[in-house]
Amino acid sequence: MPHVIAIDGPAGAGKSTVARLLARRLGWRYLDTGALYRAVALASMEAGVSEHEGGAIAHLAASLDLRQDAEGRTSLGARDVSPLIRTEAVTQRASGVSALPEVRAALLAVQRNAALQENLVCEGRDMASVVFPQATLKVYLDAREEVRAGRRATELEGRDGHADRARVRHEMNARDHADSTRAAAPLRRMDDQILLDTSALTIEDVVSALEIMVKERLLHRQPR
Ligand code: C5P
Repeated sequence: MPHVIAIDGPAGAGKSTVARLLARRLGWRYLDTGALYRAVALASMEAGVSEHEGGAIAHLAASLDLRQDAEGRTSLGARDVSPLIRTEAVTQRASGVSALPEVRAALLAVQRNAALQENLVCEGRDMASVVFPQATLKVYLDAREEVRAGRRATELEGRDGHADRARVRHEMNARDHADSTRAAAPLRRMDDQILLDTSALTIEDVVSALEIMVKERLLHRQPR
């Protein structure tokens, strides 16, 4: 079985950027699992299903032709939905749909299939706890709350030209609270997950540190 690097953590910890760069550096596949939940959220909005109709959303999730290429581009059928799943409305809805156990179950195969043939760097909230508990390396990225909120706001400003910083911080905290306290696969650090606080580190620092950890692990471990 191929190797898996599992990266979890709250919003703004740097997971996506770091995982994408690490995958590129290693020549491995990258999997953005948040994008899968976002795509389900988008599909439910487009289908006119209310966020309270859990059964209908779960049914929809199980019927979607949801794919992600090795670079993390996400599509529904032949349609690349990567830019569409980054709006604030989809972000909020994604947190809601991801609390539904049936939705999580529907996405499990998509995630595990990504590691059937290729070495994988994946990131999300339950990579180490649920999806890839046997991963070669399990990391939990975190950062101080104000640092994470600042990164989120800078990202939104870069994309939309403006961001209400107080609001971004409030919504990020609400989402992290929901993700950490839900019954189904809550965000939490596992005992065997290496904690890396990225507050004072550059992206390059983090990617290099992880690359060293991966290479160290590969010397001592066979693929899963
Ligand atoms: O990481 P990202 O912000 O794109 O994730 C969007 C939402 O998807 C998160 O707020 C979380 O609720 C959900 N998610 C999850 N499990 C994952 C990845 C994301 O529940 N493995």
